[in-house]
Amino acid sequence: MIKNRLYTPGPVAVYENALVEMSRPIMHHRTPQFSAIFRECAQGLKKVFGTSQDVLILSGSGSLAMTGAITNICSPGDKVITVNGGKFGERWTKIAQKYGLNVIEIKVPWGQPVSPAEIKKTLDANPDVRAVYLQASETSTATAHPVQEVAAITRNLPGTALVVDGITAVGAIPMPMDAWGIDVLVSGSQKAFMLPPGLAFVALSEKAWKLNETAKCPRFYEDFKKERAALKDDTTAWTPAVSLIIGLREVLKMWEQVGMEKWLERTALLASATRAGLEAMGLQIYSKRPSDSVTAALLPESVQAKKLVKYMRDKIGVGMAAGQDEIENRVVRISHMGYLDGFDMLTALHALETGLTKFGHPVELGKGVAAAQKVLIASAPDAK
Ligand SMILES: *Cc1c(COP(=O)(O)O)cnc(C)c1O
Repeated sequence: MIKNRLYTPGPVAVYENALVEMSRPIMHHRTPQFSAIFRECAQGLKKVFGTSQDVLILSGSGSLAMTGAITNICSPGDKVITVNGGKFGERWTKIAQKYGLNVIEIKVPWGQPVSPAEIKKTLDANPDVRAVYLQASETSTATAHPVQEVAAITRNLPGTALVVDGITAVGAIPMPMDAWGIDVLVSGSQKAFMLPPGLAFVALSEKAWKLNETAKCPRFYEDFKKERAALKDDTTAWTPAVSLIIGLREVLKMWEQVGMEKWLERTALLASATRAGLEAMGLQIYSKRPSDSVTAALLPESVQAKKLVKYMRDKIGVGMAAGQDEIENRVVRISHMGYLDGFDMLTALHALETGLTKFGHPVELGKGVAAAQKVLIASAPDAK
């Protein structure tokens, strides 16, 4: 018997109270009972997104809301900027091209954040850009892009929306939509929301809703306007993932009790303890601007990430992710999102120490774990 632990940057370990509630017999979605739950979720999400706008709840993976963030804002031929600094940035480009948009892609070296000055320069040269698409946290490289700085540029442009993929940001790192001036903010259930995959969330600013009025891309299932009309009646346009919404209510309740600010601090603490542990172990942090939602550790040349990850998952029950594309075999990625705590980060570090040792790259045992412990103990409550 192996006890399995999931530390991948999505899907993640599911919140316990959500698991219990989701296991109850299903209810019908066109009922006052479900509408009450749905209303509670829609209200709670506004706080998490930091917005006074409606947060739409779609049934589908995060890419559904990303697709909608193109089709509901743009028309074929429209000029847009996409920031490609990894797998998910590349996805913005691919979706936009599929819908016939005129894409200016800003390529960013993997592991680095985009330069706001480069975005500004591109916008100055192309005043007709309808939207800028980027990630808050580029999960493939564990890098945080400077969203606040980019928003400070786009918020002065009435015809240009800033569209942020916050799928590994909302609920993990600060991303206050209204305060920063983000126009479209997207998230999903299987990352910081610590639910199974299957829900996507999206909110639009007034500027974005205005662009929606003239957006001609074909859209049906992911029609935001139709979804917003349904939300006003405490329901969804189509049959929703009822169980997941029931689970969502439990996560939102817990966040309400803890306080969102405290929750984000907690996530940052898991990240800094993990980074301290990895560095003490002699591993480098891959990103030049690390996100607090996920950490990528650069492995020694002699160790292949895919083999190490397979070993840890299948032999000792610890799930982490290898890299993707050009860094597929060079990094392992550890999530700080999900139903996790400091003990899980110590387990992850122990698993890495075990794996590295077994793959012939001995590390001084306990060194990484001890460094992370120091960080965690420094912020543990005092004894009375
Ligand atoms: C996980 C993730 C997505 C969404 O992918 P889906 O598989 O469609 O849920 C998009 N962007 C980022 C940054 C992600 O981490």
